[in-house]
Amino acid sequence: MTDSEYGICPYNAEHRILLFRLPGHIIKCKRNYRGPTLQICKFNATHRLPAEQMDEHLLECADYRKFHEYNNLQIALQARKSPPRS
Ligand SMILES: [Zn+2]
Ligand SMILES: [Zn+2]
Repeated sequence: MTDSEYGICPYNAEHRILLFRLPGHIIKCKRNYRGPTLQICKFNATHRLPAEQMDEHLLECADYRKFHEYNNLQIALQARKSPPRS
């Protein structure tokens, strides 16, 4: 097991959870959570953090990066298939 297979629970930093269990864990943990409301990252539902930290998070969010790389790839492929109309 490597560290990268674990994620940190957004509701309690002391919870280190196997990544594939994290979505289920988050649902359970949220029920007991009494802190400030966390925003859900648009690119990965297991990323939750205070609204004011979201911009900062997106700079390092791997799923955000993947999403944009994928879109850029699609745009590039699209452009190759159909030349832009003039
Ligand atoms: Zn937790
Ligand atoms: Zn994220």
